[in-house]
Amino acid sequence: MRYEKIELTYSYNSLEPYIDEETVKTHYTKHLQGYVDKLNNVLKGYEKFTEGKTLEQILSNPNKIPKKIYRDVINQGGGVLNHNLYFSILFPYPKKEPEGKLLNEIVSTFGSLEMLKKLVSEAAINKFGSGYGWLVKDKRGKLKVANSSNQDTPLSFGFTPILTIDVWEHSYYLKYKNLRGDYVKNIWNLIDWARVEELYKKDNLA
Ligand code: MN
Repeated sequence: MRYEKIELTYSYNSLEPYIDEETVKTHYTKHLQGYVDKLNNVLKGYEKFTEGKTLEQILSNPNKIPKKIYRDVINQGGGVLNHNLYFSILFPYPKKEPEGKLLNEIVSTFGSLEMLKKLVSEAAINKFGSGYGWLVKDKRGKLKVANSSNQDTPLSFGFTPILTIDVWEHSYYLKYKNLRGDYVKNIWNLIDWARVEELYKKDNLA
């Protein structure tokens, strides 16, 4: 199996002014592409292991990854999966708020959409070092806010991610320098709740 990055449904400059063109372009064509190339390289010779498996399936069952390539698959595979999710939930003209079942679940779990956004923002901002803030669902569809280090994905811990904020410095440093909080505050203008709703409705991956 060969694993690929998603196609963007928007141009590099269309997330401005919140995320600048050079950051989107470098992030997608250099950082994400680097994870794609390294992952496929690491998996050479392991075709029997990868045959018929999606990346989600591989990372949902980390104990089945061959020991010799375990760390590389977690890091590079997580890099592909996490970035594919990140780029897929951003959109220049996003649906601004969730509705229906997802909104109901957000309100009953966190009190309000504003409170959820505050908690995800804090999880992202307070991540020490490189990582991600998340909204995830568990096997019963219950929502949870989390953060993770490096390229670890919630899938490996039994949760299905439905929203993420990349807080590696490469995702904001060109424009925001050290001001991670400003980037996190602004990214909500780009998060497409239509896409998050889709992911919430889909079957659990983990
Ligand atoms: Mn990144």
